[in-house]
Amino acid sequence: MSNPVLETQSSGAESFRDTTSTISKGKRMWLFPKKQTGKIFKWRNVVAYILLGLLIIWPFLKYDGHPIFLFNVLERKFIFFGIPFWPQDFFLFGLTMVTLIVFIIFFTSIFGRWWCGWSCPQTIFMEFIFRKIEYWIEGDSHQQRLLAESNWDSRKIRIKSIKVFIFYFISFFIANIFLAYIIGIDELYKIATEPISQHLGGFIAIIIFSFVFFFVFAYMREQVCLVVCPYGRLQGVLLDKNSIVVAYDHLRGEPRGKISDKANLHGDCIDCKLCVNVCPTGIDIRNGTQLECINCAACIDACDSIMNKVNKPEGLIRYASSDSIEKRNSFRFTTRMWAYLFVFTLLFTIASVLIIRRPIVETTVLRAPGQLFMKQPGGKISNLFTVTLVNKTFHDQDVELKLVDFNAELKLMGQQKLHLLKDGSLNEPFLIVADEEIIKKNKNALAIEVYVNGKMIDVVKSTFIGPVKFHHDDSDGSEKEKPKENEHTKI
Ligand code: SF4
Ligand code: SF4
Repeated sequence: MSNPVLETQSSGAESFRDTTSTISKGKRMWLFPKKQTGKIFKWRNVVAYILLGLLIIWPFLKYDGHPIFLFNVLERKFIFFGIPFWPQDFFLFGLTMVTLIVFIIFFTSIFGRWWCGWSCPQTIFMEFIFRKIEYWIEGDSHQQRLLAESNWDSRKIRIKSIKVFIFYFISFFIANIFLAYIIGIDELYKIATEPISQHLGGFIAIIIFSFVFFFVFAYMREQVCLVVCPYGRLQGVLLDKNSIVVAYDHLRGEPRGKISDKANLHGDCIDCKLCVNVCPTGIDIRNGTQLECINCAACIDACDSIMNKVNKPEGLIRYASSDSIEKRNSFRFTTRMWAYLFVFTLLFTIASVLIIRRPIVETTVLRAPGQLFMKQPGGKISNLFTVTLVNKTFHDQDVELKLVDFNAELKLMGQQKLHLLKDGSLNEPFLIVADEEIIKKNKNALAIEVYVNGKMIDVVKSTFIGPVKFHHDDSDGSEKEKPKENEHTKI
């Protein structure tokens, strides 16, 4: 059977791919999408309001006295599902991000832009908050268009002013929620309740965020998905003909024709254009998969309602891969998808093991720079080290260092005990003192066990430098062993 979409491509009628649906001759074309209704839209409402609820509630939830999520880029403090990450965990954080990106690639290769249509905050705020308020204030698509084209009279000024006021108020609320994820709800509460002069930076941030959100939802709208969002721009390489997208069944729908065509020699599409009129990005999905499609499924609902009216089966536009439409087969898990799944599983396993095994106190032992060993009274020698401890928990911790199988004494120089304050770090010099008699070599490997509140959590390794054991080589009269420059090791 011939493929009309391919035919239009070969005839050069693919000019719609050269421009975006909302920009013409460098000018923005404002969209007035029709109100969405239908089965899928109902489910999207449920999902959207659950996600919105979670987004709003999460900053208030605490675990162990701390937020469940915190993305404090200013102080480089991150909490993810209650697990704190510190600047020292940058590697882990990076690995987690790479794992997430691979998961997104894997997910997109199967389900296309499902995320955009169902869960992206941009879509949820736009379609389920701002757009609904707009319908409530200005009416459906047709009334909005009339209002936009009408002269600025008192009615228009009143309607637009109410809309701007409500939009800004909601943007202000969203700005507060987002700031709560960055600085925490307690800090946000202080900004809200204490004199502005004490929190000028935070106050200015809220105002700026509010204007940014207002600008995005009142003006930018679908342009965020079309030209700003990097995920949207990547669709061309993430999708293939086996990905499940919102697709028009051209084999069934074409040649399209008006219902008034009594001979009814056309396919199921009656060219009512409802699928185009509801589209929040202004595209015609009948042209095939396009970069602008955010998989919101509004066109599926719209077309299903038409199919019901003309007594044709639903699903002329549906979730399907282009391969399944062309060949009438079911979904196939391709080699490419298996490969993504393999890489994701590998990275996820590595990241999980590293996070689970991450010690609660990070310990680094360094030999004092520029020093080898020191002679001590009583035939003893010592090496000077510095231990750096980073507390990765929200509790104070008592730390103890013990030498393993090394007949020497570990002496703290500054304080009797290593006490780490919550979220704190500590640099402490210490000596390892040994009998000169038992130090046989120039370089002696040593291991130090790290105990936190009596439980061993880590073992760090270093070297103990002994006196130079020169020996005379009778063959050439040279000295064979010399101490190397100062060294340190950390595991
Ligand atoms: S084509 Fe359909 S699924 Fe894609 S953005 Fe438009 S209405 Fe949503
Ligand atoms: S809504 Fe369905 S019938 Fe109407 S134009 Fe779109 S695809 Fe054709």
